Amino acid sequence: MTKRQLSQPLDFLSPVSMIEGFGPRRACALCESGIETVGDLLYHFPRRYLDRSHIIPLRDIGGYLDRTCTVAGMVEKAHVERRRKSRLRVLLSDGTGSMELLWFAGVPIYRNMLAVGTKIMATGKVSAYTHVQMVHPMVERLAEGSGQRVQAFFPLYPTSEQMRDAGISHRLISRAVRWILGTISRFPQILPEPIAKKRNFPPLEECLREIHSPTDPVKIDEYKKRLRYEELFRLALTLRWSRRKFALPGRCLRAGDLPERFRKQLPFPLTGEQEKAIRILYDDAASNRRMHRLLQGDVGSGKTLTAFFACFPALASGLQVAWLAPTEVLALQTCRLIASWLAPLGFKPELLMSGVTAVDRRRINAACADGTARFVVGTHALLQPSVQFKRLGMIVIDEQHKFGAAQRLTMQEKDVASDFLLMSATPIPQTLAKTLYGDLDIVTILKPPAGRNPVETHCVPESKRSDMDQFVLREIRECGAAVYWVVPRIEQDETSETIRDAETTFAALKKGAFAGIPTGCLHGRMTSMEKERIMQSFAAGSIKLLVSTTVVEVGVDVPQATIMIIENAERFGMAQLHQLRGRVGRGSGKSYCFLLTPSAADDETAERLSFFCRHHDGFRIAEMDLTLRGPGEVAGYRQTGWEDLKLADIIRDAELFREIQEELETVLPR
Ligand code: ADP
Ligand code: MG
Repeated sequence: MTKRQLSQPLDFLSPVSMIEGFGPRRACALCESGIETVGDLLYHFPRRYLDRSHIIPLRDIGGYLDRTCTVAGMVEKAHVERRRKSRLRVLLSDGTGSMELLWFAGVPIYRNMLAVGTKIMATGKVSAYTHVQMVHPMVERLAEGSGQRVQAFFPLYPTSEQMRDAGISHRLISRAVRWILGTISRFPQILPEPIAKKRNFPPLEECLREIHSPTDPVKIDEYKKRLRYEELFRLALTLRWSRRKFALPGRCLRAGDLPERFRKQLPFPLTGEQEKAIRILYDDAASNRRMHRLLQGDVGSGKTLTAFFACFPALASGLQVAWLAPTEVLALQTCRLIASWLAPLGFKPELLMSGVTAVDRRRINAACADGTARFVVGTHALLQPSVQFKRLGMIVIDEQHKFGAAQRLTMQEKDVASDFLLMSATPIPQTLAKTLYGDLDIVTILKPPAGRNPVETHCVPESKRSDMDQFVLREIRECGAAVYWVVPRIEQDETSETIRDAETTFAALKKGAFAGIPTGCLHGRMTSMEKERIMQSFAAGSIKLLVSTTVVEVGVDVPQATIMIIENAERFGMAQLHQLRGRVGRGSGKSYCFLLTPSAADDETAERLSFFCRHHDGFRIAEMDLTLRGPGEVAGYRQTGWEDLKLADIIRDAELFREIQEELETVLPR
């Protein structure tokens, strides 16, 4: 690599395009894989290491058949065979013996690298086809007398398809990481000195270097300790800030006559559970502290309406309301629903998401800033610094586990006195709740509205697929059922043929058993306008069969939908299946959920799905998920909400986390 002059100093926030050896194509592949900055790459840790610390003398190599090992020696012969496909045969000798290295692909590159006389190290699986050899070993050139240190433990990184396509290998990542560690001008110091001292942590720089390129893998855990601590420290800091915001005085707000006026137009009475929750929320609003509460309740328990009631105190007091939803589909639906609820009361909500035109966005931003927008529903677009409110009285975050702690904080900071209500259908284990929501108040809706029947759930083997099709067809024709048909991905992928995708499924259903049934397709890559059009048609009944990815997973509410079909159910966690199943069984009709799996589902999967068929209580299902899949996976906490945790695990490290929260109090001013 040639030394490039850096136009500005390199730090954790520098874009990956500044890394030596990363042109636009590679930088782009990294960004698509979620690695956007130099810091992201440093925190992209090896999955495991290739142990090259023991070099096997070639005379003994015959005793290592079928094992992966490392040898070192000099290239004695290198010969390209042109029979059939080209292949490269290299004879390696180390003075005690010799063996063959063989390549079927990448011949030109290796040919240049392996000139006769070159000293190399090779790691690979020893096989004996015609004679003892290694096929496609990983080789490292040993430069003579340069004092170069060979990495005895070679890091193997998780790589995405995009990364592999762009030629980003383990070696390239490793080289980039070493270059970064040697070039970076400043390491962020997030741990206060006294804490790092007290805990005897090695410097961050050393921890990162050792994790990426260990001198002794036994010590890796020692180095990881600091990083794990830092992650939890950062989370504790965010939560502490968030708590301090709520220690600030709030406003005493009352709902006036709005609840009574609104109740009159509701087609059904509130349930006792909803009434109870609303009373608690109104007490919060009327107190002089800020409301800081989590509204919990199983899927379909009627949280939206309850949270809507909680917005009246702000509205009646001339303040603004912001309502945050994690997906465009949910934001659109919520906005439409709230518009219909607000109209008779003389208000109109605005909708803000990345899909709105620049003109609308400017208008809405201005209306938020001057206070004329009284109710704003939006996606992540609401978090933008450009969105400022004049006087925000209430912030609602729906499906809050889909947001990170930092995002919640950003929202809270939009008004220092605003009330704050989080909603979640994802039951979380008590220990986790205590740790993460330390002094968040919680109110739970224990029972759904009466008259709901549990959703009849079945696993459908491939051999019964056409029976299912016939049943579904009858339900559509005779009962007017609306059907969700959920698939794990948007388009076909040749490498995994057993995984169904939206485009192929959509095309096949229209032609096959369901010809003539109005069918639609919905996925995350469509524009907001297309999504809105499809969802509207499905809700209005002009689309009967909706093929969709998991964009319908959270919050979507179409009461006349009574059938949920999930393809490749084995690919979904139980909490996610529960969310998907929660899309049906919302009205009084009988509802069904069918789980399809390719014929080769293993025992564990079969057991998990059969458990799911028999249970309908979200808490029970979450508990089971916890025992089966381990804490990190529960409710997607690893993938979403607490995604900033890479090494730490909020349940396993709960004790440490509490210690950190205490330590924080000693080093920071109150
Ligand atoms: P979730 O708690 O999953 O967010 P929703 O708020 O979307 O659930 O409500 C689920 C369904 O229940 C909606 O169709 C809603 O109109 C309906 N619903 C809410 N409250 C009541 C009630 N008191 N009586 C009957 N149906 C209700
Ligand atoms: Mg909801």
